[in-house]
Amino acid sequence: MDDYAVVVNAGSSSLKFSVLRRSGSTGWRLESRGQVEGIGTAPRFAAKDGSGQGLVDQPLDSTVNDARGALGVVADWLRERHGPAHVCGVGHRIVHGGARYTGPTIVTTEVLEHLRTLIPLAPLHQPYNLAAIEAVWERLPGVPQVACFDTSFHRGQPPVAELVPLPADIRTAGVQRYGFHGLSYEYIASVLPSVAPEIADGRVIVAHLGSGASLCAMKNRKSVDSTLGFTALDGLCMGTRPGTVDPGVILYLFQGLGLSAKDVETILYKKSGLVGISGISNDMRALLASDDPAARLAVDYFVYRAAKEIGALTAVLGGLDALVFTAGIGENSAEIRRRICEASSWLGIEVDDDANRRRAPRISIVGSRVSAWVIPTNEELVIARHTGSLLGLIEARA
Ligand code: ADP
Repeated sequence: MDDYAVVVNAGSSSLKFSVLRRSGSTGWRLESRGQVEGIGTAPRFAAKDGSGQGLVDQPLDSTVNDARGALGVVADWLRERHGPAHVCGVGHRIVHGGARYTGPTIVTTEVLEHLRTLIPLAPLHQPYNLAAIEAVWERLPGVPQVACFDTSFHRGQPPVAELVPLPADIRTAGVQRYGFHGLSYEYIASVLPSVAPEIADGRVIVAHLGSGASLCAMKNRKSVDSTLGFTALDGLCMGTRPGTVDPGVILYLFQGLGLSAKDVETILYKKSGLVGISGISNDMRALLASDDPAARLAVDYFVYRAAKEIGALTAVLGGLDALVFTAGIGENSAEIRRRICEASSWLGIEVDDDANRRRAPRISIVGSRVSAWVIPTNEELVIARHTGSLLGLIEARA
């Protein structure tokens, strides 16, 4: 019987899933993907097949108000569509694996307990990621689950890149730079040899620009530094998060403005970045379409910050061979790519406007000292591969 793997990416208000199928000697193939969105407000379920053809798109009962309910909807739909298929495992995107998890791991109660201790480091993602693991345990008892971490790809960075220069007793409590978006970077690293062989083993900065945004400096397809740190707040300007701010500002929020820790958390995770600057939206499309000066300032800052951090990571790498764009903004906005490349032209990046508009994988002119690329990411595939190979290992040992 064919093997099916289900990949789950659970957030605060949405649960995205992909079903991958492996038959005989072929690799994983996308069977269907979809999401339950509006969890807690106006839940809705939609799914498409592997070629993007719509299969279902319908509102749900408002009782679907958490991960358990959302997973119930997905499980019922899968049973209806695939019958008694053999689900060999469920792979989860888990945002934080701390220092312990340098690669994917099979979930046990002990693993889950440890991952709960990391909730304060990723309050916007980790609780929802873990709730989905518990919901799968309830709905599909006996089906093994694999946790794949956004932090793992960055383990192995030099100690100096992981350091947070605070006193030793604080550092030993786990305060270090972890980095995120690692599943996306791992995918890009895996396809560089086929998509862009001439730069695959060189000094590459990958720009993952989505609602969350970061850069990863890679040498030889290994992460040597990244702009996200202890939490997913550092570095670039994001949809609702500010990126790097002077830590003195945070002190002032507490001491000068008398805000509570909860208020500060909400400001940093939900009210800053593009939406904070513009006062209009966290969606780059809306900002690019607006001629409001505040929207323009938000876009200017997004580009400015990206170019500034590209300069910093180029220093870390000792020069640059290529810049790769990926994720929602990186893959879809020719304008943002062009502007970031132009702001980085001092490095020797020369954009080919036509290739950029066409989203050709290579978007720099022939002869550009540093090449620029667009490569769509595929975090689900990375999770499916890990899930399949970890569970294959178990079967081999049994
Ligand atoms: P996440 O997975 O973190 O939710 P995505 O990688 O899907 O984020 O990116 C989402 C963002 O991509 C949206 O906030 C939107 O601003 C941006 N985006 C999508 N399409 C476009 C586009 N055509 N032009 C500009 N921005 C876009």
